Amino acid sequence: MGPAALLDYDRSHLRGLVLEEGGPTSHIAIVARALGIPAVGEIVNATALIQSGDAVIVDGQAGEVQIRPQPDVENAYKDKARLRARKQEQYRKLKSQPAVTRDGVPIVLQINAGLLVDMPNLEATAAAGIGLFRTELQFMVAEHMPTTSEQQALYTAVLDHAQGRPVTFRTLDIGGDKVLPYMERVEEENPALGWRAIRIGLDKPRLLRAQIRALLRAGSGRDMKIMLPMIATVDEFQRARTIVRREQAMLAKQGHVPPLSLQLGVMVEVPSLLFELPEIVREADFLSIGTNDLMQFLFAADRENKRVADRFDPLGAGALRALRSIVEAASEANCPVTVCGEMGGKPLETMALIGLGYRAFSMSAASVGPVKAMLRALDVARLTERVDWMLASGDGAASLRPQLAAFATECKVPV
Ligand code: PEP
Ligand code: MG
Repeated sequence: MGPAALLDYDRSHLRGLVLEEGGPTSHIAIVARALGIPAVGEIVNATALIQSGDAVIVDGQAGEVQIRPQPDVENAYKDKARLRARKQEQYRKLKSQPAVTRDGVPIVLQINAGLLVDMPNLEATAAAGIGLFRTELQFMVAEHMPTTSEQQALYTAVLDHAQGRPVTFRTLDIGGDKVLPYMERVEEENPALGWRAIRIGLDKPRLLRAQIRALLRAGSGRDMKIMLPMIATVDEFQRARTIVRREQAMLAKQGHVPPLSLQLGVMVEVPSLLFELPEIVREADFLSIGTNDLMQFLFAADRENKRVADRFDPLGAGALRALRSIVEAASEANCPVTVCGEMGGKPLETMALIGLGYRAFSMSAASVGPVKAMLRALDVARLTERVDWMLASGDGAASLRPQLAAFATECKVPV
């Protein structure tokens, strides 16, 4: 099942999702999380094991599914659900509290979105803005290729809803597992490494140009942020920027009111860019780290393949050093950087990223409460020292997760 198929269901009846495939960073999982639907993937043979009419408990947090549960199991889950509801209540109370650490370091918390239905989450979470708007979702749920005016209408509505809060629109990230039903499918041996995202945009500039036009028109008289996915080289960024500049010039010639400001950023999710950091932080107006793809490519482990998706821990010294190199290069060049992959929405992982120097995150709406609770209890100075020490005294362990969790327990940081 793909993310578009999920959106076809009547959400008022959908209480949980059990999938035979799909790891936690697969796109269907991301969409389910955005919609607040508990989901568990990788349940082998689920469709054969579950009969129509069966009672099923779906515990998305623990990744567990109970089919035809016994009364004692059901009661245990009821207790768990009550506990969770109490936690949710605590998170709701945190809504009015600032996202500032215990030692006074402000952290920017934004949410990820992709459809108009996500927009009320801005109010509900009191997030600072939308750090990643996945524009491909409109394309994935449509029956035909959205026209430029349909795209413009969505972007305008999103900006209207955001009421001045920043929105970072990501240009189309199609291809790979994000298939458009009405577009001719190109069979590829390795779709994740294939013709997708900015590669399509650069090779078929009509599509990218139309989208840029829609974005610039929607942003007329407002501050606009656009970012480009799957950029593998600085040259690709420059070529895409030329397309954007051309569209800006064209609209100006036609007398359109341009955006008040336009920032063009880049998703850092292809490891080759880590070796062009000095150039990319100079060229781009901002960076946004797509940890889902960055980790899949860094470890050569398919994020959609359950056999390998969780094989390597992003909290290992190798991945953390890679992430540190990005934030260091960005800080040196005064280039703003946000983490928008799933890693930035998990309290322990977000804590580690703060320890590396990251100060801005964009996550699913449901993650804002737990992440805020974590950071408000955090002493950044102490954490930074500890993370530096952990990375300096590496012993080749596969993961620093146990040490980071021990730090959290020691400092009473809820993760
Ligand atoms: C990512 O790769 O981390 C990301 C945010 O983009 P997507 O999950 O849409 O590929
Ligand atoms: Mg990505």
